[in-house]
Amino acid sequence: MPGTDPYVKVLDIEQTLADLNRAMDQLRRERDDLEIALTTAVEHGDAIEAQLELANRQLQREVRERRAIEVQLRQLVATISQKSRDLEVVLQTITEHSDQMDLHWLDRYRQSEDSARRDPLTGLANRRMLDERMADEWARARRQRQWLAMLLCDVDHFKTYNDLHGHQAGDDCLKRIAETLCQELHRHNDLIARYGGEEFVLLLPDTDEVGAQRVAESIQRAFEKAALPHENSPHGRITLSIGAAAMIPDEDDEGALFAEVDRRLYLAKQQGRNLIVASS
Ligand code: GH3
Ligand code: MG
Ligand code: MG
Repeated sequence: MPGTDPYVKVLDIEQTLADLNRAMDQLRRERDDLEIALTTAVEHGDAIEAQLELANRQLQREVRERRAIEVQLRQLVATISQKSRDLEVVLQTITEHSDQMDLHWLDRYRQSEDSARRDPLTGLANRRMLDERMADEWARARRQRQWLAMLLCDVDHFKTYNDLHGHQAGDDCLKRIAETLCQELHRHNDLIARYGGEEFVLLLPDTDEVGAQRVAESIQRAFEKAALPHENSPHGRITLSIGAAAMIPDEDDEGALFAEVDRRLYLAKQQGRNLIVASS
């Protein structure tokens, strides 16, 4: 130990070197600041003394090495302890904020899930969300023996609107059409989706054919009132053709309702446009 006197033990040796080594091993176990002075009564003991000197130096070197290793180990333990305290602080911070982080990620997840189901131009449900809701509502209406209604609305002569005003103006007009449609939906469970370019679908749970026709009529009135200009249309404004239908589902095929409104929309177009076809 630095600053303290070395431990000195004097041996009178009349033993073999093997005995001596055993004695030194014992001493090494007892003290780590060992220095050894050895005496011998054996005549011509130069060889033994040289060996003892060598062993002594080796022992001292080992002791020094061991002390250096101990210093390194102590530093290592201190470093690990510090790192462990740092880690505890990090863990504690994570634990304290985990609720907030969970909510943040949940929010981000919901936003991305929602935007994958929305039409970017109008903000309405897209076809994916419509398909999912349709499957749910069809199954529910079938289970509960309730009506499920659908309206398929197609803007009349919209190609000529684009031809006259350009695509950007066409997009702006589609947004106003979407807003006008949204104002005619009043029930929490009603869904409106942009089905394709200038086609919109309304899904109305718990609504029969009479109810579906009423909604279609109120949509036509809303467009009359909004009077969105369309110079190339016979009415000078945006008009819609609408196929409407309602069913109490009795089969697995939820496509049956869409097929029916599509067929009726086709009839509305054939019969002159700006029309509702709500019965077969
Ligand atoms: P109809 O009365 O028979 O429905 O005639 P239409 O011109 O509306 O129907 P058609 O199917 O021939 O053309 C639909 C047009 O709608 C084609 C395209 O110019 C326009 N359209 C479709 N999607 C978009 C869109 O996202 N933005 C714009 N600006 N126009 C679109
Ligand atoms: Mg169309
Ligand atoms: Mg059209």
